[in-house]
Amino acid sequence: MVNFKKARERMVETQIAARGIHDEGVFEAMRKVPRHLFVDEALRDQAYSDHPLPIAEKQTISQPYIVALMTESLELNGAEKVLEIGTGSGYQSAILAELADRVFSIERHPDLAYRANSILRKLGYQNIIVRVGDGSLGWPDDAPFDGIIVTAGTPKIPQPLIDQLNMGGRLVVPVGDRFGQDLILVRRLAEGIKKTNLGGVRFVNLVGKWGWKE
Ligand code: SAH
Repeated sequence: MVNFKKARERMVETQIAARGIHDEGVFEAMRKVPRHLFVDEALRDQAYSDHPLPIAEKQTISQPYIVALMTESLELNGAEKVLEIGTGSGYQSAILAELADRVFSIERHPDLAYRANSILRKLGYQNIIVRVGDGSLGWPDDAPFDGIIVTAGTPKIPQPLIDQLNMGGRLVVPVGDRFGQDLILVRRLAEGIKKTNLGGVRFVNLVGKWGWKE
């Protein structure tokens, strides 16, 4: 039987702090959220390993380091309204909910949305709303957002997401082809849009109007 709490501490130390993440809030969130409950029972012992894991519908829960890197890049201080595209397992939503005020998360597969929602409820999160739909269109009803995180790869940055970013807000999105992407951080500033490349990543496809066709 794995000691999950110890496994989380070791994960933060060896995979996250050791690779240059500094945000103490991110460390705390990742020490707290029980990642093993977001994967299939058969994969629980691998939940804190240094790689992504399969979830239903041929999707994946991201590698812990990538979750940390993307979360840190949003520079959350507790007051933000955050939009997540690609709820998947719900793990990233939980990490965001620890660090922001409110999280809106969209998933295109209803069964994934349903499962993620039920585990998030079980864990007591009350500041996350999960919805089924095409997240490449954003969530216009509740826009603008202080942070937007896209956890699926897209050929180009969906324009609605840039439009739904608050002034001073940050958007992190993997942009590239179907097999590899660059993680792009977009900041909306008074003088315009500023983009920074955070490095190479590999995500499942964003499927939707502003992403890939099925
Ligand atoms: N953040 C997730 C990662 C899930 S993988 C986690 O922590 O587990 C990416 C997810 O994006 C998949 O579940 C996939 O179904 C979903 N997805 C792909 N295109 C989408 C779209 N246009 N709108 C909403 N979700 C989408």
